[in-house]
Amino acid sequence: MTGKETNKTGSENIQPTDLVIRVNTVLTNDPCALCGSPTDPTGIDLYLADSPALVCHNCGLFHAPALVRLLDLASAANTFVRSEYEMFGVQSDEKPV
Ligand SMILES: [Zn+2]
Repeated sequence: MTGKETNKTGSENIQPTDLVIRVNTVLTNDPCALCGSPTDPTGIDLYLADSPALVCHNCGLFHAPALVRLLDLASAANTFVRSEYEMFGVQSDEKPV
């Protein structure tokens, strides 16, 4: 199933620049699929909707600004939680003994 030759029968109507947010489990920093710029290997990244291709934040801002704002919120929350953990001496990666 390539789904590339025609979209007549496909029920999905994905545009080439439809973007999605996925958890980047391999922490890759492949170049952006749209412009070729380097991307940040953070935990949550923008991808093309129909392929595992990373998209940089600049292209994300252009094609899906709302998703980029969501990503910014997520990373701000992440930073906040991490600083809270540090403030209270909680090890975020290990269970407290
Ligand atoms: Zn890009």
